[in-house]
Order: sequence, then structure tokens, then C-alpha cells
Amino acid sequence: FLMLVISGSSYAQTKKYMDTNKPIEERISLLMKEMTLEEKVGQMNQYNGSWDVTGPKPESGSNEEKYNNIKKGWVGSMLTVRGVKEVRAVQKIAVEETRLGIPLIFGFDVIHGYKTLSPIPLAEAASWDLEAIKNSARVAALEASASGLNWTFAPNVDISNDARWGRVMEGAGEDPYLGSKIAAARVKGFQGNLDNTSIIACAKHFAAYGFVEAGREYNSVDMSNSKLYNTVLPPFKATVDAGIRTFMNSFNTLNGIPATGNSFLQRDILKGAWGFKGFVVSDWASIGEMITHGYAADGADAAKKAAIAGSDMDMESNVYVTELAKLVKKGIVKESVIDDAVRRILRVKFELGLFDNPYKYCDEAREKSNIGSSANNESVLDMAKKSIVLLKNDKNLLPLKKSGAKIALIGALANDKNSPLGSWRIAADDNTAVSVLEGMQQYKDNLLVYEKGTDVALNKQSFLNEVKVNTTDFSGFEAAKKAAKEADVVVMVLGEIGYQSGEARSRTDLNLPGNQQQLLEEVYKVNPNIVLVLNNGRPLSIPWAAENIPAIVEAWHLGTQTGNAVAQVLYGDYNPSGKLPMSFPRNVGQCPIYYNLYNTGRPTDKDQNVFWSHYSDVEKTPLYPFGYGLSYTSFAYKNLKIAKPSFQKGEKIEVSVDVTNTGNFDGKEVVQLYLNDPVANIVRPVKELKGFELIELKKGETKTIQFTLTDKEIGFYDNNGKFLVEPGLFNVMVGWNSNEGLTSKFELK
Ligand code: BGC
Repeated sequence: FLMLVISGSSYAQTKKYMDTNKPIEERISLLMKEMTLEEKVGQMNQYNGSWDVTGPKPESGSNEEKYNNIKKGWVGSMLTVRGVKEVRAVQKIAVEETRLGIPLIFGFDVIHGYKTLSPIPLAEAASWDLEAIKNSARVAALEASASGLNWTFAPNVDISNDARWGRVMEGAGEDPYLGSKIAAARVKGFQGNLDNTSIIACAKHFAAYGFVEAGREYNSVDMSNSKLYNTVLPPFKATVDAGIRTFMNSFNTLNGIPATGNSFLQRDILKGAWGFKGFVVSDWASIGEMITHGYAADGADAAKKAAIAGSDMDMESNVYVTELAKLVKKGIVKESVIDDAVRRILRVKFELGLFDNPYKYCDEAREKSNIGSSANNESVLDMAKKSIVLLKNDKNLLPLKKSGAKIALIGALANDKNSPLGSWRIAADDNTAVSVLEGMQQYKDNLLVYEKGTDVALNKQSFLNEVKVNTTDFSGFEAAKKAAKEADVVVMVLGEIGYQSGEARSRTDLNLPGNQQQLLEEVYKVNPNIVLVLNNGRPLSIPWAAENIPAIVEAWHLGTQTGNAVAQVLYGDYNPSGKLPMSFPRNVGQCPIYYNLYNTGRPTDKDQNVFWSHYSDVEKTPLYPFGYGLSYTSFAYKNLKIAKPSFQKGEKIEVSVDVTNTGNFDGKEVVQLYLNDPVANIVRPVKELKGFELIELKKGETKTIQFTLTDKEIGFYDNNGKFLVEPGLFNVMVGWNSNEGLTSKFELK
């Protein structure tokens, strides 16, 4: 009788699994013994919180069902509920009104910051600065956790070499080595010490989503196993090694099997070979999508296939909660499959300390003081500056003089406080970025005139609203030309609206959208002293600008502090040091274009970097290669040394090079080491990044940079996923981008 009158939570308090002195695995076992099959399946169910959770309870429709299911203990997690008040309200239902009081875990797409936004992830990758990237994820975690959240659907570690795919903005670019380092840094930043400022990270999209055919969003992937093992999987493995707790699977098929129903990926590799102990959440409704894929007959079949394949949590397909218990009762799905998934989910909740304090993340005072704090703004400004890549600086147009110059600032994006926020910023308010105009206005000793020139978009855009590009209205051209004519220097901010990249934003054209190319050419006719500042979420093809415009600055979508970062770089208060994490094509027909392509049967020409395999109507090389980026100073590389001409397998191979700052500014440089294995069991790439070092050099200073190569860098996976270290000759290049550097070689015996 007593049991009936005390509330669910105090009932739970009396339970042995609440004993914090017991090890987590034992607590999980004790709890699972108490759970009904339906409650277990409930843990595997995730809903999107789309009603006013703090208001009256929903009376009808799917929201009522969600609400009731939380009360029954049939929900394990919510996504997109945010804010301490909201999270507390929903958590309260789970903890106080259900039989066992199991807390929910709250997920959210914290992709590049929460309210105070960092640069888009692709931009951050251009910094090659792992400490800064980790710190940026930490700031995101501080704000998200202060908002009641404890789980982010990030990092996106999808390697991609096709700029047509809109989601390249979410990743770290085309290279698995750089991508792995960045993936690990992000996991460490998000997860911190698993205290109440930490959010659990989620590696996505497992796997190969970055290789959808022709960059077409939601499409299919067919690829060799060696490509999968050498290019796609390493960043995912790096997140496991960094202690990540969750994975998200993917919308695409891989060689005919949807990733969501893919046992090879989820059971054999992730939970088998890699020993991953966390859980896998499906992508949004991706379990149900297996029906549309033609891989499952109906919801029950989809639930069965996904669960057996190791998808532990159903995000918004609503098939686990409706089908799985029935499937177990009919003997179609073994209860052990459910138990394994539930154990994984509960483990993360215990590790987060949610059983011990379900409101651990619900701290109104911290919510007030932390979100949008000046410290967070300082951090994202720092990250934004580090993400900028100087692509061209002829005539020394940059840095701009700080006084006495007449500057015309042209382009709608220069006065845009929304686009610089980039895609994926669900928690941030619109129009909260510092615009380039605002940033430049702070340098008051120049005369600054602003003209829009042309609009990029004709409509108000959002995550769901595609951008309608302006190709018809040229009415601002004359005023822009007049301003340019009267100026000493013209700064033009052109590129993509924030919502032209991201999910569901694949493009077949990588030029400057709308009228912007025409505007650029018209302005150039009246004043060729142009600094072109690019705002974009992907590599663009800008061959005309590359040829004609003297200075080009790649400024991506840099987040909340965009204008301040751009202005500080333009005026030389910050010397840019970013290097491209993706190749920039000369035209869209070159896509996919990437530096680490396989050797072909057609010989390389004498300069080693140009391949006979080519199109006949455009140069073979990319417009700007992977790893490319300039500085206001210059660097000279000398004395590439390899410790010995030959090494035994397992020996450490020491490589060193001297780098000198030969210019007039202190500066930073990313020294890059590339390897090539010219004869191997399977054909290997022409070169692969296997080491890099971000260094700082004062004017005139020289540093010797050391790299150590081990079997890990030298070996590769064959088509069976076997790691091979083969003896033979290896070519080494240490340089300043993937196309230029000093070369040497060594032998492995
Ligand atoms: C995206 C995921 C995202 C999820 C939840 C999906 O459409 O592919 O990356 O985490 O939605 O918002």
C-alpha cells in the first residue's frame, strides 16, 4: 500500500540501482531486471519536442501520443527541446510520473556553437588549429549545457570531396588524416570531463554519407572497401578512440544496404572490431526510410532490420515503440538485441550522472550568465580569425592602410547579419552576426562608403525555405560602380547566403550565385583594386576572380563575430594563416576534385603533380589545392632531411625541415607532410597527408620542424579491411600546400 502512495521518483530512490557506490554495469543490470519489455523498448525511442512542453498537455494528435508515451516510460530521449524551463518540464514527466523514473537524455544539433556561433565546421577546419577547434566545441558545450541540453548531434565527420554536396559545410573537408585529428578534437571539446558543462558527442553520419552520388543530397553510395577503410572510416575510428559515446547512422545506402540497416557497419566494425560501448541513434526517420529505399516491407520489417543491424535508438520513425515489443513476443527479434541496445543507452545516462541528478543540466543562473557571454564571444572571434584563408594578395593590396584611404564596400553580404551565421544554427536568433560593414566601420580613420550593388536572394530564407536567387534586378549596379570609381580600394563581399549550404542544399553550380559575378566584373572595369571577400559554405569556382582580382580572402560563414574577424584580417591586426581543407575546382565539371586521388595508368608528367588523366577543356589542376593558403608574410622551406635512407618495419622514421619567416610580418604557417607509396598491393593515392604542424614564426625567425612516421602512417587497409605495412620505397613531400614542397624518399625494408 505504501508503494502506491509514494511518487514514482521516491519509489525509484529506494531501488538498488540508485546506489551510487555500485559500479555502473551492475546498476544497469539491476535496473534492467525491473523493466518490462515495453519500458526497455521505450528507451530506444526518441521524439522531437515540437509542442510547448511547458504549456498545457497536448489533447490530441501525435503530440498527445508523445506526451502519453513519455508518461508511460516509453521514451528514452527527446530532441530539439531546449531551454532550462522546457527541459526541466519534460524531464519532470519522465522522472516523477513514470513507474521507474528513468531520466531522458536531451539531444540537439549543436553543430557550430549554440547561441554564440563559431565559424561553420568546414571553416574551422581551415585553421588546422586543433586546440582552437577543441576550444570552440567547448564553448558550444558550455552554452548548450547551460540551456539544459546534454547531447549534441555533432561532430559531422563525413569526409567529402564533392563541393556540390551542401553538407560539406558541416564537416572537416576532403582529407581523412586532418579529418581524424579534428574529429577527435571536437569530441574532446564537447565531452570535456563529463561534468555538467559537457555534452555527449555523436559522430555522424555512419557511414559514407559524404560520398553520395554526384553530391546529390540523400542519394546512394557505392564504393570499394579500401576506400571505405582508408578514407571514410578513419575519422569515425578517431572519435571512438577519443571516447565518444554516441554515433548517428545515415540516410544513404552503402553498396545497396541502407546504413541504418547495415550490420557490417554497425555490428561488425563499430561495435565489433572497434569495441564501441556507446549507442547508435538513427538519423531522422531513417529507419522508416528503409521502406522507401525498398529494403523493408513495412514499419515492422524496418524496425526488425534496423534493430538487428545495431541501430539502438529510433529518431522519429516511431516504429521501435510501435513494433519492437510485438516482434520480440513473436520471436522475430531476440530480446538480447533489445537488451544490448538498452544497456548501451542506459550506460550513457548513468555516465552522465542523470540518474543521480536528472536536473544536473537545469541551472537557470548558469543559463542566464553563460549564454552569449563576452568570454564566449571572444572565443568565437578567435576561432573566426583563425579560419580565414588568404587566397591571393597581388599588388600588396592587403593589409589595408588604416588611415587616409577611401574604401568602397560593396555587396549585399557585406551588410548581412544573418548569412554569416551559416546553416545549422537552430538556437541562435536571426540577424545576430556582426556584419562586415559593422566590423569595418570600427576603423574610423578611413572613409568608408557602402553600396549593396545587388541582392543575392529574393526571398526570406530559412532551414526549410530554399533560396531564390536574384538574376533579374541590376538596379544597384550604377551606385556601386560610382562608389568604386571614387575609392582607392574596393572591398567586395560576395558568395552564398547562409542557407545555400547545409542539409538539402546540393548545388549544380559553384559560381557566385545570381548577379554577383556580373557585378564583380562591372566594378572591376571602373576600379580594379578589388579585395574580394568570399562568404560561403563550400568551395566555389571563381576562375575569373582568381585570374583578375588582385586580392581574395576566403571568409566562409564565420558565425557571430564574422565582421570583427574579417575587419581585423583586412586591416592587418591579424595575419591570416588558414589553409584550405578542400580543393577549389575551376568549374563544377571537375567535381569531385581532390588531392589524394589514385594513381592512374597514365603517367604523371615531369612536374609530378599534373596527371594525364584529364578533361580537355580545362586545366587538370584544381583552382586552389587542398592545404593552400597565404600569409601577409612569406616562408621559405629548406633542408628536408630524413634521418636515414632506409628503415626496418616498426622503426620510427624521423623527418625534419627548416622553415624561415622571410617576410615583414610575424606569422603562422601550417607545415604539411605528404607520403606516397608508389608500389603497393592495391593502388594507392598519389599522395596523402600524414603529418602537419601549425607553427608561429617571428620575422626572420627559423624553426626546425620534426615529424615522426610510424607504421600507422605508412600502412593502409586492403579491400578486406586488413592493415598492411608493405616494404618498398616511399616518397615524402614536406610543403606549404598539397601541391608544393620539398621532396625526398626513404626505403622500408
Ligand atoms: C540530419 C542530422 C540531424 C538530424 C536531427 C537530420 O535530418 O541529417 O544530421 O542531426 O536531422 O536534426
